Amino acid sequence: MSALFDLTGRTALVTGSSRGIGNALARALADAGATVVLNGINPERLKAAEAAMAADYPPGRIHSCAFDVTKDTEAARGVTWVEENVGPLEILVNNAGIQHRVPMLDLDVADWERVISTDLTSAFLVGREAARHMIPRGHGKIINICSVQTDLARPTIAPYIAAKGGLRNLTRAMTAEWAASGLQINGIAPGYIHTEMTQNLVDDEQFNSWILGRTPAHRWGTVQDLAGPAVWLASDGSNFVNGQTIFIDGGMTVVV
Ligand code: NAP
Repeated sequence: MSALFDLTGRTALVTGSSRGIGNALARALADAGATVVLNGINPERLKAAEAAMAADYPPGRIHSCAFDVTKDTEAARGVTWVEENVGPLEILVNNAGIQHRVPMLDLDVADWERVISTDLTSAFLVGREAARHMIPRGHGKIINICSVQTDLARPTIAPYIAAKGGLRNLTRAMTAEWAASGLQINGIAPGYIHTEMTQNLVDDEQFNSWILGRTPAHRWGTVQDLAGPAVWLASDGSNFVNGQTIFIDGGMTVVV
């Protein structure tokens, strides 16, 4: 059974993995045996993340490639670099994302477009480049990192909600076009995850008690909660799972 989830010898690229959830997902894939390529735009932060991770794994298992996922030429350069310097890309996690909180009446179009291009267009650009290599080989896994805002709205984050909702349908569109070539494309939609970035929300008594009351599991998620689903969707254990978005949210999206 464990062979089903073994990623030994497989090359994975996780976008936006210099920190946060992406870094945790990269570690989960590496723990399952994958050779992992980290990505981000800040080269110093990325090199530091690579060095920190490389210390925990055998030599040659951790790499990094800085590129901007919102630019088509950069996405092509990044995927080509992986193919030429690390190995055939078998697993892509489209994780890079940003948030921008402003009421819609005050929202500039430039900020709308920045969020849409980072949180949605990037998955098309990097996913398309990855698929161009995966399709001729007849297999590959693409995991798009969505959100509970794929399904639920909140005030002040309109572009994020539009992008994450779009990402679920992009997952389906990729499935419609590429599943017959042996690719499985699925989404992971994390709920509220306790990270460095959300520490201020955890510390906010009112917000924290809203989260606990709104979540059937009555707790925040952790990055470890995402590891199992990510490894499953990257592995042979999910070879007939196509176009699904799995909510890892303690049940938040199934209750009102
Ligand atoms: P984070 O800590 O802010 O990290 C974002 C990562 O994305 C960084 O590595 C950053 O690189 C990279 N990035 C941003 N723009 C990029 C670009 N144009 N090209 C390449 N890399 C870029 O984010 P996070 O909270 O871990 O979130 C990761 C993903 O999970 C996002 O898609 C987010 O929407 C989703 N998510 C998060 C939560 C949560 O509770 N945190 C919940 C649900 C979903 P640099 O370090 O170089 O800036």
